[in-house]
Amino acid sequence: MIAWKLQLVFQRTYQFNFCLPTMKELSAIVIGSGVGGLATAIRLAKKGIQVKVFEANAFPGGKVNSKQFGNYRFDMGPSVFTEPHLIDELISLSGSKEVTFQYHQLEESCRYFFADGQELTVIAGEDKVAETFSKALGEDKIVVTNFLKRQRKNYEAVYPVFIAVSLHRFKHWFNRHVPNALLRLTKYGLLSSMHKVNSKTFSNPKTSQIFDRLATYNGSSPYKTPGMLNIISHLELNLGPAMPNGGMVAISDTLYKLCLELGVNFRFNEKVTSILQTNNQVTGVQTAFGSYSSEIVVSNMDVHFTYEKLLSNFAAPSLNLKQEKSSSAIVFYWGVKKQFQQLGVHNIFFNENYKEEFKAIFETKEVYFDPTIYVHISSKVEQSDAPLSCENWFVMINSPINVGQNWDVEIQKVRTHILNKLSKVLGENIEALIEIEEINEPRKIESIYSGKQGSIYGNSSNSSFAAFYRHPNFSKKLKGLYFAGVTVHPGGGIPLALNSAKIVERCISEDF
Ligand SMILES: Cc1cc2nc3c(=O)[nH]c(=O)nc-3n(C[C@H](O)[C@H](O)[C@H](O)COP(=O)(O)OP(=O)(O)OC[C@H]3O[C@@H](n4cnc5c(N)ncnc54)[C@H](O)[C@@H]3O)c2cc1C
Repeated sequence: MIAWKLQLVFQRTYQFNFCLPTMKELSAIVIGSGVGGLATAIRLAKKGIQVKVFEANAFPGGKVNSKQFGNYRFDMGPSVFTEPHLIDELISLSGSKEVTFQYHQLEESCRYFFADGQELTVIAGEDKVAETFSKALGEDKIVVTNFLKRQRKNYEAVYPVFIAVSLHRFKHWFNRHVPNALLRLTKYGLLSSMHKVNSKTFSNPKTSQIFDRLATYNGSSPYKTPGMLNIISHLELNLGPAMPNGGMVAISDTLYKLCLELGVNFRFNEKVTSILQTNNQVTGVQTAFGSYSSEIVVSNMDVHFTYEKLLSNFAAPSLNLKQEKSSSAIVFYWGVKKQFQQLGVHNIFFNENYKEEFKAIFETKEVYFDPTIYVHISSKVEQSDAPLSCENWFVMINSPINVGQNWDVEIQKVRTHILNKLSKVLGENIEALIEIEEINEPRKIESIYSGKQGSIYGNSSNSSFAAFYRHPNFSKKLKGLYFAGVTVHPGGGIPLALNSAKIVERCISEDF
């Protein structure tokens, strides 16, 4: 027995301390400094790994960045923020005493303007939502409350199985939470669409439209995405959105500062042009300025372009990559010389035929003539984002990905429609109030952030098994290659990108 134990100790010592490098002897390269890339860099640096981040742009944060146009500041990408505890978790993991992240919960989830003129402000919190939907839309309070409770339970059931761990490593996936997750998944909407579930649950189509809208949070259609995606309403309506002090850019600023404290090395304006490999093992990356070696490479760029541009001689996993892409967006950034009391931080102007809009986005790939309009105004809570008596409007519509549409013509057409609609609803000539304007659209999303065809979240979740078709967080063929960000498992949105980093860290710990 003693001899056997000694042998085991010898084997372990020999295997782990002699043959394999320790974490402190390892180096990792992260391609891209989106929130998924920054979170991965923090996690690996904290383990003692030497981390270098290569970023094609001049700034960190990827789509979570901010720009000043004249006297107006805009967050250029995300505006809805849930699960702020994931940022707190990274600060506490890093052990930083200096870096702080402050945010507040918004009381209002969103203000809705329906096509027939009805207006509705939804205050976050289960009881308040039920009260509002009952008073304004005639819903049974108990039905709304039960629905929201169910979404909380569904969220808690699927989180440890489908979000927090890799779906592609049996030992992650197979945990004690599986039976409950599978049970709830099959019972509450794997096979029926979000819209079917919502229209069956609620009596008023307007209530259903509000819940359906949440499918767009990961670039999908409520008419195709599985009902289980209603778990988003737990985050948006039960818990409610948060707002970081200083705007959304505070998220990437915080993560960047943590990276610097942990000694992560950044190389901005340096695009990676290929991933180097020998004998099915990554050995580093190539850029225009040289080649850099590392045992680990983590790609935070769109997984489609990782294969197309950086691994062009390597067989790409076509099943993962050929799935339908998520939607893209057209965004107008308007500096508006007036304040509107009718508007809040998040506002939605619905159209009459929601279904046709999604058909246009995903099937005919057209910019719908009467799209749902989202207006985000951060200056409602961050007054310095706009001059006195003015507001910074981030006006966004969901759009198809870029398949060669005549974007210049389409954007002008839809701009005119949006201005007419907002002017009519708000009773003001909006165009006359715009003093500065910038535009973002699918071609720019592709060129600035390298999102394939301008898709925001990689694959859409427009099928029951979309979660299983997302690319894993590691390569099954190239040792040392990992993936973080919204285009891989577990999917779209800042919280999921932060989760992908957690999964990458676990996979690397297991592999090295
Ligand atoms: C208009 C818009 C609105 C959105 N709204 C929301 C929202 O409200 N809430 C939400 O949670 N999410 C929203 N999103 C999605 C959001 O952007 C993501 O959730 C998240 O920011 C994506 O993070 P990521 O880690 O995947 O990386 P990304 O932000 O995509 O960053 C990838 C980085 O990789 C870099 N890169 C690419 N190729 C290379 C290369 N070859 N070499 C070096 N660097 C490279 C890019 O420059 C980029 O910085 C929105 C996106 C857009 C565009």
